[in-house]
Amino acid sequence: MAKTTLHCSFCGRNRDEVKILIAGQEGHICENCVEHAQDIIEQEIITKEDKPSNSSFKLAVKKPIDIKKFLDEYVIGQDDAKKILAVAVYNHYKRLQQKNSEFPGNNDIEIEKSNIIMVGETGTGKTLLAKSIARMLNVPFTIVDATVFTEAGYVGEDVESILSRLLQVCNFDVAAAERGIVYIDEIDKIARKGDNPSITRDVSGEGVQQGMLKLLEGTEVLVPPQGGRKHPEQKLIKVNTQNILFICGGAFSGVDKIIARRVQTNTIGFNVDKEAQDNMKKNLLRYVNATDLKAFGLIPELLGRLPVVTHLDPLDADALRAILTEPKNALIKQYKKLFELEGIELTIDKDVLDFIVEKALEYKLGARGLRSICEGMLTDAMFELPSSKETHFTLNLEYAKRKLDSSKLSVLKVA
Ligand code: ADP
Repeated sequence: MAKTTLHCSFCGRNRDEVKILIAGQEGHICENCVEHAQDIIEQEIITKEDKPSNSSFKLAVKKPIDIKKFLDEYVIGQDDAKKILAVAVYNHYKRLQQKNSEFPGNNDIEIEKSNIIMVGETGTGKTLLAKSIARMLNVPFTIVDATVFTEAGYVGEDVESILSRLLQVCNFDVAAAERGIVYIDEIDKIARKGDNPSITRDVSGEGVQQGMLKLLEGTEVLVPPQGGRKHPEQKLIKVNTQNILFICGGAFSGVDKIIARRVQTNTIGFNVDKEAQDNMKKNLLRYVNATDLKAFGLIPELLGRLPVVTHLDPLDADALRAILTEPKNALIKQYKKLFELEGIELTIDKDVLDFIVEKALEYKLGARGLRSICEGMLTDAMFELPSSKETHFTLNLEYAKRKLDSSKLSVLKVA
């Protein structure tokens, strides 16, 4: 039905939903759409100036080894996941180029995308890996949390709004969004409860997984531009998901028991040596596969659309120590920079670093805890020093212990 009230001809918002409505010969445009249009024009002009001879689709392909090297600068360890991501992202580029006939080869063979699922304890670097990939790429990228979505008809967001976020990051440039990457966090939280298909409706779990199928398989999806729930008056944007790469991540806590059962059943009757078995038990996630995730509660159809399964290793003391100091934007480097901006040189004694790692392990906070511990130790200094004339500050073990003991974190202390 045609709208009779004054409205924006681009986004469909009514007069009372916008501040300004500019009249054209046969329609109107609101201030939001003017802004989006301006962004698109700027982007187009910049892209064309950068690459005068070709379309904005021209992508700089890094080889998988170089992608991994790049990831190494930001993420400690997790070599398996890095390799798998590097290959998937490289192939994603190749697919895109094949579509644009820039890549030599047989165009009759359609390369299918390989969406990825990453399994690893919380705070081991899943989001960081996804973010670091995004940093390197010039395709739109967004992170969404699976827990906010519910089956259509229930309170919560429609799964299609996963794509709203992607559209928003590229200013509603649909062509750009259609070659983007989406990281879906906490995918384990939408597992169905128990391995048996439930007769009653499972609002938060299976329904959402079903909803996700059509996004992952590569069809045209109608997306509400502002996310949330679709409603009848809203103008929807058509997005083809065929070339969007989906990376999912989750802690899947308890999946190790499922893996242990499977691995044990497989090894019964064989003379597997004890040491090999012990090693296996130490990091069972290394053996995770789609069967385990199905037993955890992901539906087979969803798993079928996430063909690459990889794992992240738990972080030990060495890894935590390296995370503190080695990555390009390591925590310690960040604090030094913060102090430097204040004209203060920050020195941190070596035994303080060991102490931070020890506490992170003790509090079972993983890498995520490193920052809270550092904050606990340095907040007072960061509060007081900017008003002083100091040009140097040394964080020694005695000061670090004292500050941490008086901070809120000490309540996490293991008795
Ligand atoms: P999750 O696996 O829960 O998604 P994140 O990637 O969000 O964990 O990690 C939380 C924080 O811990 C990151 O911002 C990062 O600073 C740090 N971190 C975790 N794992 C690593 C790692 N392997 N290398 C470097 N930093 C890490």
